[in-house]
Amino acid sequence: MLEYQLIRSKRRKTLSLQVRHGHVTVRAPHYISSAFIDTFIQEKNAWLRTKLAEQQEALEFCDFTQGSSLLFLGEQLTLNICSAKQSTVFIDSPLVSEVELYSDYKPSLRQLNVVISERVSAKLTEPLVRAKRVKKLLETYFKQQAEQLFIERLELLSNQTSLIPTKVTVRQYRARWGSCNNRGELSLNYLLIMAPVFVIDYVIIHELCHLEHLNHSKSFWKLVEQYCPNYQIAKKWLKTHQSQLHWQNLR
Ligand SMILES: [Zn+2]
Repeated sequence: MLEYQLIRSKRRKTLSLQVRHGHVTVRAPHYISSAFIDTFIQEKNAWLRTKLAEQQEALEFCDFTQGSSLLFLGEQLTLNICSAKQSTVFIDSPLVSEVELYSDYKPSLRQLNVVISERVSAKLTEPLVRAKRVKKLLETYFKQQAEQLFIERLELLSNQTSLIPTKVTVRQYRARWGSCNNRGELSLNYLLIMAPVFVIDYVIIHELCHLEHLNHSKSFWKLVEQYCPNYQIAKKWLKTHQSQLHWQNLR
């Protein structure tokens, strides 16, 4: 049974349902029994769950404002926007005690700090302009982090598979995670830095295997599976998180 808030009123003649900010409110005439309302909720169960899920997804959509959240290496981080002399972006270090306490530690408390320089910050009075600035700083940061990590992983995986690209670029893509052409040049989307390392590894292996098969044939997938046995889990992760993995355009 879903939890809901019940508001009764003498003047009301009909039952009404409202879902807002992840909460369900029922407004009912004073003479209607609780059992009747429970049945009503039960009947609307599927609709309510869909509504709640939609709102949850909207919550996960980052608009680059204070308190919104972003994924980084599979970890949900909360945006903390502040200003100081120098602009910089950094992530809080993990709380050691918690890391040690819980084996499946998923820190939701860590912050992704975006520091805007005081000089610039004073000029960013318009919220949308401010959000754009935050996004820009994050793009630069994510790209730097991606370049470093992807090259590191690529070297390792290249050694393991003996599949060696002629050139590697980390860049922005609209709708793909990587690419590989017939000249053996490999590109990776820097926003992939939002995914956990095992997912990043899968995408790298996927592209490396294209050096052998420039298609998605059975033999291609067989090769992927050989080097990345859990690739189905990685593919699934990308699918379930796709709404969070694409940054919205700020207009
Ligand atoms: Zn492919």
